[in-house]
Amino acid sequence: MSKFQAIAQAVKEGNVNQIDANGIKVYPHSLSESGNVKLVMVKDGQTKLILAVGEGPLFDELQGTVEGGIKACPLTHENRLVINKYFDYTVPRAFGTQVATIGLGDRLGIASPGHIKTVRGRNVRPILAQQSIRELNLTGRDYKQVVDAACFAAFQEGYKDGFGADGDHLKVEADIELALGLGFTMLTLDCSEYIDNSIEGSSAADQAAKYNALSEEIRKHYESRYLNQTFEVAGTSITFDKETLIKNVLIYGPAIDFMEHIFNKYIKTAAREIDFEISIDETATPTAPESHFLVAKELYARGLTIYSMAPRFIGEFQKGIDYIGDIAQFEKELIIHAGIADDFGYKLSIHSGSDKFSVFPIIGKYTKGRFHVKTAGTNWLEAVRTVAKVNPGLYRRMHQYALEHFEEATAYYHVTTDLSKIVPLDQVADADLADTYMNENNARQVIHITYGILLQAKDAEGKSLFKDEFYSTLSDQEEAFEQSLISHIGKHLDLLGK
Ligand SMILES: [Zn+2]
Repeated sequence: MSKFQAIAQAVKEGNVNQIDANGIKVYPHSLSESGNVKLVMVKDGQTKLILAVGEGPLFDELQGTVEGGIKACPLTHENRLVINKYFDYTVPRAFGTQVATIGLGDRLGIASPGHIKTVRGRNVRPILAQQSIRELNLTGRDYKQVVDAACFAAFQEGYKDGFGADGDHLKVEADIELALGLGFTMLTLDCSEYIDNSIEGSSAADQAAKYNALSEEIRKHYESRYLNQTFEVAGTSITFDKETLIKNVLIYGPAIDFMEHIFNKYIKTAAREIDFEISIDETATPTAPESHFLVAKELYARGLTIYSMAPRFIGEFQKGIDYIGDIAQFEKELIIHAGIADDFGYKLSIHSGSDKFSVFPIIGKYTKGRFHVKTAGTNWLEAVRTVAKVNPGLYRRMHQYALEHFEEATAYYHVTTDLSKIVPLDQVADADLADTYMNENNARQVIHITYGILLQAKDAEGKSLFKDEFYSTLSDQEEAFEQSLISHIGKHLDLLGK
C-alpha cells in the first residue's frame, strides 16, 4: 500500500481539494491530465514530488518509483523535460514588446510559486527564471536548476499565462550559447566590457586624438549619419555637434558592434522568438538621452530589432532600496528615454528595479505600461524577512555573520551602507527583528549583498552554517514566504499601475 493511496484516489476522481492527506501537502492547482494519465504535485516532508496515476506514454516517460500503481516522481531535470513535453504552459516563452514584464530573480529556487500568486490576474507577465553568472557563482546553482525550478513552479500552480527565462547580464558568447541551448527565452546582453568608461573624464583634445585614430571608414559612417544633424524625439530635439558625436562614438561604438554581432549570430538565427535586451546600465555616468538615441538608431539602421534597452538612469538605483536622487530630474529624463524606446518600438528596462517605490508611478506612466522591471535581491530579502519572523535564532546568527563579512561582499556590489546606523542585535526583541532590519536601508543592504557568503558559509567540519536550516525553515513556512512576496512584489506592481 502506497502512502499516497488516498491522494491517488482523489486525483483519479479529480477532487484533490477535499482530501485529508496525512501530513502530505497537496498542491491542488497542479492537478493535470494528458491522455489517460493524471498528475498532481505533493510535498512529503520537505520533498516535493509529482504523483502520476493511469497509463500511457506520459506515465512511462516520467522517472520515479511505482507502488500500488502510483508513480512518485522526483523534481529532476529529466522529469522537468517530460512535463514540458506534455504541458506547454510549463515551457518558458518569449513575450515580445507589447506586454509589461517583471523580472523576478529567484536566487534560492523556491520563490516562483509566490511570484506566480503575485502576478496572477494582473496585466504583467513574470520572468520567473532570471540569474546572472555572478549570482550563479555566488549561490552555487546552475542554469539547468534555475529553469527547472521555474517550470516546476508553473506546473505546481497550474499557471497558464506564460513565464520567461532570462539569461541575465551575459557578457561572453559561451554563456549565451549555454543559456539559449537550455531554453532561455530572454537574453540580457551586458555590453559593459565594450563601453569605454575612461572617455567621460578625459579632455576634448584626448578624445579628438582617440577619435582620429579610428579608421576613416568608421568616422565617415557616424559623421554622415549624425554630425550636425538634429533628430526630433519624444518632444525634444537631439543634435550631434562634433564633440558630442566624438564622445558617443568612442564610448559606445565598440559596444554597438558587439550588439550587432551577438544579434546576427544568435538571435536572428534562433529557431524561436528570443526577447533580446540590451543593457548599457553598468556605466560610469548616467546614459545621456543622445547616447540612448544614438545606440538605438544605429542598432535599427543595422537591422536589429530589440525587446528592451536598459540605460543607466540619473540618480542612484542601488540594490534593494528606494530611488536616491532628484525625482523631478529623473522624470524629465525618463520622458525622453521612454519616448525613444517607444519611437523604435522596444520597451524600456529598469535594472536594479526593486523597491524604487517613489519612481514607479512615473515609470508606469511614461512607458505607457510597456516596461520591463528587473528585481532580484529583494526576493531574497523577503525570504530573510520570513526567517526573521519564524526562526529568529537563525536570523540572528545570519545577521551577525553578514555584518562580519560585509566588506568582502562589497567587492561584488555598489552600495553606500552605513553600518553604524544598524541597531545592535541585542537591542531588538525577536518579534521586532523583521521590521527593524528588513525595513531599514542599511541593514537591508548588508543582508542583500551578503547572500552568497551566507549561503556558502560552512563550519569547521564543512557543514553548512545557515543554508540547510534556511531552506528547511522556508519549506516548513512556505505560505508565510509566499505572503511576503505577494505583499512586497504586489506593492511594486500596484505602483507601476499593474
Ligand atoms: Zn543591469
